[in-house]
Amino acid sequence: MAGNITFTMIKPDAVKGGHIGSILKMICDAGFSIKAMKFTKLSAEKAGEFYAIHKERPFYAELVAFMSSGPIVAAILAKENAVTDFRTLIGATNPAQAAPGTIRALYATNVGENAIHGSDSDENAKIESDFHFAGTERF
Ligand code: UDP
Ligand code: MG
Repeated sequence: MAGNITFTMIKPDAVKGGHIGSILKMICDAGFSIKAMKFTKLSAEKAGEFYAIHKERPFYAELVAFMSSGPIVAAILAKENAVTDFRTLIGATNPAQAAPGTIRALYATNVGENAIHGSDSDENAKIESDFHFAGTERF
């Protein structure tokens, strides 16, 4: 069904901070179901590939270093309006601007180390899910 999945990563800062359980609880309580999930670590090369769209941005090198600095939790989530509703749940990129009660307001450190990723479109949700998961890893 079009539009009902999104892709997420609990980023290295939130994993190091011990927030995996709290964040997954918020995601499940918000009505998302888990279609795929893994605890893994991105190489610098893979992180660079994932964020290739930001290659020309001044923060790219820092972003790649951060995203490959420690393990992450990657997941595919399903819900009606998954992409939009998940962006609402995680809050603005910069936690200083994230709405109270959002995942980034609660767990992000700054605009770079911001706890969690969420796809920005249905098209990217599919591309990002395919980047991380084989068909046999999805249920
Ligand atoms: N980022 C950063 N500095 C910025 C903007 C973004 O370090 O000024 C990082 C941050 O980790 C962010 C990621 O780059 O989550 C991707 O940026 P994007 O604009 O796509 O934000 P998102 O979609 O994650 O909210
Ligand atoms: Mg983005």
